Amino acid sequence: MSIESDLYLAKDYDKKYCMQVFAPLDVAFVKGKGSYLYDTDGKKYLDMIGGIAVNSVGHAHPKLTKAIAEQSKKLIHCSNYYLIPSRSELAYRLCKKSFADKVFFSNSGAEANEAAIKLARGYFHYKGIDKYEIITAKMSFHGRTMATIAATGQPKFSQPFEPVTPGFKYVEYNDISDLQSAITDKTAAIMLELIQGESGVHPAAPDFVKAVRQLCNEKGILFIDDEIQTGVGRTGKMFCYEHYGVRPDIMTLAKGLAGGVPIGATLCTEEVSSGFHVGDHGSTFGGNPLATTAANTVLDIIESELLVENADIIGEELMDKLQAIKAKYPLIRQVRGRGLLIGIEFDPLISAKMMKDVLLEKGFLVSSIGTSTIRIAPPLNIKKYEAMSFATAIEKIMKAQAKNK
Ligand SMILES: *Cc1c(COP(=O)(O)O)cnc(C)c1O
Repeated sequence: MSIESDLYLAKDYDKKYCMQVFAPLDVAFVKGKGSYLYDTDGKKYLDMIGGIAVNSVGHAHPKLTKAIAEQSKKLIHCSNYYLIPSRSELAYRLCKKSFADKVFFSNSGAEANEAAIKLARGYFHYKGIDKYEIITAKMSFHGRTMATIAATGQPKFSQPFEPVTPGFKYVEYNDISDLQSAITDKTAAIMLELIQGESGVHPAAPDFVKAVRQLCNEKGILFIDDEIQTGVGRTGKMFCYEHYGVRPDIMTLAKGLAGGVPIGATLCTEEVSSGFHVGDHGSTFGGNPLATTAANTVLDIIESELLVENADIIGEELMDKLQAIKAKYPLIRQVRGRGLLIGIEFDPLISAKMMKDVLLEKGFLVSSIGTSTIRIAPPLNIKKYEAMSFATAIEKIMKAQAKNK
């Protein structure tokens, strides 16, 4: 028996040989198609989490698998010492679609944020201005590297690894006066998620975001927009900042950009790009032919299949349906989010882990956050009946729970 089909062996080896940071569920997937995944027993699941907002065009999209296969037969990797035409094309396309004029490619979200933090500091350094402090929000999430755990406004991620990288400050999310009082003449940047994904899908208030932009303009501070989870169509716009009518100075992307092939991107204005000179930053893998070809293909699919529009439409229909279920069952406390990034918060009596397990049993994949919230971030090409089948499953569970209580 191969380890592919022997779940017990896989579990045993995971425990023995993998560093125990994930606590995986007792399920392994062997293939996917569209919005569905299939486990080692052939059981089918509707993937409502999409690899945490990564599988933006679903599983095994024929155009994406073909593009990756064909590129791998030609050239997977060559160094950034040479021109990479697919990298040039991807940078051009991302700039055309956004506020940005320049892009740097890496391999993950945390790396994209590392580059953003360095870029903001480099920008002031080269101007001869002594500004280096970065203000972020409490309950934010910006990654797992040493600088990004310092940026993340949740001490549990950084405390065991102290001393933390200096130069970060935290303010209440959606509280402009708290932000105002944290700004000093050393403040280089304000870094925010426009929807706090990892801590429970909390959207930023429109007034807050507008006031942040205003403050940044007045005080010569850079606005870093972490769109690693919200970017590339997820919220029903190509980028979440478009909902707010403001433009950041730096934006980071990763998760959904290449449909599952690792990639990170740090975008900025022409002005801010002066923060990096030749040799100041780099990456061995970042922007390689395979990853940038995958991302270009994801953008092709998003454009030709109107997936930003689909995320907007299906997201709204699903949100309406979930709100209607909430109105019937007070065990649902709140339904939050935008487009296809939605958090469902339950009464504290209902544990998120229980919900996740019951949904798994019924063939739906979600993630649980904290004690009583579940998050969904399905593929952007999810179909209406698929999304509605998830809402129906939630309704059935609520009905059963309401009877028990
Ligand atoms: C996932 C995430 C990150 C970190 O991305 P990795 O690829 O896991 O390093 C950073 N910021 C936000 C908003 C994220 O959702």
